[in-house]
Amino acid sequence: MSNPGPKDRKNSKTGQTAGTLFVVSGPSGAGKSTLCRRVVENTGVCLSISATTRPAGGEEVNGRDYYFLSRAEFEKKIADGMFLEYARVFDHYYGTPAEPVLEELKAGRDVILEIDVQGAAQVFAKFPEAVGIFILPPGEAELRNRLRQRGRDDQATMAKRLAQAQWEIEQARQNGRYRYSVVNGDLAAAVREMTEIIENKQRIRK
Ligand code: ADP
Ligand code: 5GP
Repeated sequence: MSNPGPKDRKNSKTGQTAGTLFVVSGPSGAGKSTLCRRVVENTGVCLSISATTRPAGGEEVNGRDYYFLSRAEFEKKIADGMFLEYARVFDHYYGTPAEPVLEELKAGRDVILEIDVQGAAQVFAKFPEAVGIFILPPGEAELRNRLRQRGRDDQATMAKRLAQAQWEIEQARQNGRYRYSVVNGDLAAAVREMTEIIENKQRIRK
């Protein structure tokens, strides 16, 4: 879990400590990681670190960007019930380690999960009050540019990510669980918008 959040807090209605879970999804390359990192700096919410079987790319660091696991390690964790949710995305497993998230929430801290729509559906089923935020790129051409510029994927993987993008947007529209959508055109404006969404929720809880 990155960034320890603000001090423990009580829910004024129930008297119990409980943080808010924010679920951030969107097509690969839309800028979710970039936005989440900035928002974490602004708001002090925690960002869950996922596990994945995909290889680390570029400058990614194990334990900071993801926990990079072998398929056998990941499947053992599934069998042991260690994941809050998991899904197969682009031929690899991705999952949210349950314990750190549950601990932060119990302590009254807010947590962001940056996960795909399949994993998000599992989270919304378990946590009906989770707040969904969908990140959109300003257009398909720009999405292609960003994936290319990021330079993390080979051609075949990039093609898969682009093909998946439309499906992901459609799924989000159909399931209606994303209360907010943020178009990540100008980065600073998108950071402000997402920060406001989170800070508004925090204000309501106080
Ligand atoms: P995701 O997590 O959604 O897959 P990333 O955060 O890795 O996306 O962003 C994909 C690429 O686009 C990165 O190279 C990132 O620096 C760049 N990027 C993110 N947001 C913007 C933006 N608003 N304008 C231009 N480039 C951006
Ligand atoms: P990437 O390979 O670009 O880092 O991530 C690919 C996709 O996997 C993105 O849509 C991202 O949101 C999703 N993802 C990342 N972590 C998790 C996770 O823990 N669970 C699920 N279900 N999806 C994840």
